[in-house]
Order: sequence, then structure tokens, then C-alpha cells
Amino acid sequence: VSGHRFFLPAVHVAGNRVSFPPHTSRQISRVLRLKIGDVVEVFDGAGQEHCVRLEELGREAFGAIVRSFPSQSEPDIFVTLYQGLLKGKKLELVLQKCTEIGVSRFVPVRSERAVAGEPSESRFERLLEIVREAAEQSGRGVVPLVEASRSLAQGLAEAAVRGRVLFLWEEESLAPLPAASDYQAGSELSLFVGPEGGFGEAEAASARAAGAEVVSLGRRILRAETAAIVASALVLQGH
Ligand code: SAH
Repeated sequence: VSGHRFFLPAVHVAGNRVSFPPHTSRQISRVLRLKIGDVVEVFDGAGQEHCVRLEELGREAFGAIVRSFPSQSEPDIFVTLYQGLLKGKKLELVLQKCTEIGVSRFVPVRSERAVAGEPSESRFERLLEIVREAAEQSGRGVVPLVEASRSLAQGLAEAAVRGRVLFLWEEESLAPLPAASDYQAGSELSLFVGPEGGFGEAEAASARAAGAEVVSLGRRILRAETAAIVASALVLQGH
């Protein structure tokens, strides 16, 4: 196998034949200069993977599936990160790193102290591209979801329906973030991380009222992007 891996929605698979869209076809023949007969990996973003032997190159490359298998690299818990809106490139950093770590879904949150606005259409597109590229690079079988922002109240309500909710609060000093072994395989988990200015007392109280566990990452105050990456890594370790 050439070691090259591409995200390819299932729509490009017909029987044992795969058609590559123009941008991937260009990458295959122009950038990577692969040849007929080379084998590449494709994943459909829904957990299925194929080894494909290249048969035609050019503006639209084609290949034949030589092997198919379910993705081995997805975590056995479904983690959603509800992230307070962040300024500059921090949201991009969080989505890239947490995709590598194994987060399955991202929801930006409009909270009291969030000064960054709702991502623009173009910034949203950029976030989707970052997540897709990080999924390819890290060998994941699924491209995580990036959804429209929610208010904190909306996020807490929907997260509580899905499963366990951990609200990371910098003023919490007693309850630690439960260890990764605490999360059952097959379960859903939501993490809430504040914006640069953090979460207020009333927001933590509303989280408790919504059934969230308010937890601490320790006695140091981490930047929001650090907290998101550290918390994701801690809960997903070994999953
Ligand atoms: N208001 C403070 C901290 C903001 S940190 C300041 O301005 O420096 C941003 C977010 O990271 C917090 O809302 C929280 O979700 C998370 N976080 C940072 N340190 C944490 C800790 N020790 N325990 C729990 N969450 C933490």
C-alpha cells in the first residue's frame, strides 16, 4: 500500500469501483505522482475503509477496491466537545488537535464571556477542512462533525439527553475529571470548555441544574485551548 489515505464519501464507491473527485485526482497524479497499480487507502467517513488499486489517472482518477474493512481507528466512546467561542486561530487549533485525539463532534458555544462571534461562513468552511485533513492525517475512519453554535443553555440541554456531561470549571477545586476508565465503551460523553474568559458562577450553577458534573483539571488555570486538548486526551485515553 502506498501509505496514502484519502477521505472519500461513499457516493464515490460503486460496486468495487472508486472514482476520485478532481481535487483528490490532482493530488494523486500531480502532487504524489502515484502510478497505475499503486494501492491507496480511502475511508468514507462513516466507518468503512477500502484499499484501492489505481487504474486510471487524470482529471478524474479511478480505482478498483481490493479490500474493504471497518475502520479500526475510531474510539469506542462518542465524545462531543462543546467549546466556548475562541478568538483568532485557537478554535482551529482545538479542532485539529481534538480530531487527532478522537473527538467525534464539535459544537461552538455562545457563553456569557465569549467575546469571539459566531464563525463566518468562510471560517466555518475552514474548520471543516481542518477537521477532514486531521482525520486523514491521524488515520481515523470517521470525519468528526462540526455543527452550528449553540447557547450554553441549549448545549447543556441537548448534551444531557445524549449521555454524560462534564462541565470543566476553573473555579471547581474538589471534583476531578473522572479517569478514562470511568467511561463505558459504547457510551456518549460531552465536555464543556469555556472561552478565554472562562465560565461564571451562574453558568456553573446552570450546568449543575442541567445534570452536568462540574469538574476540575487541577490547581493550575489552563488556557481554554489547553483545557480542551488536555480534557479530550484524558477522557479518550485508551478508548
Ligand atoms: N477565567 C480564567 C480562566 C479561563 S480558562 C482566566 O481568564 O484566566 C478557560 C476554560 O478552560 C475554563 O472556562 C474551563 O472550561 C477550562 N479550564 C481551565 N483551567 C481549568 C481547571 N483547572 N479546571 C477545570 N477547567 C479549567
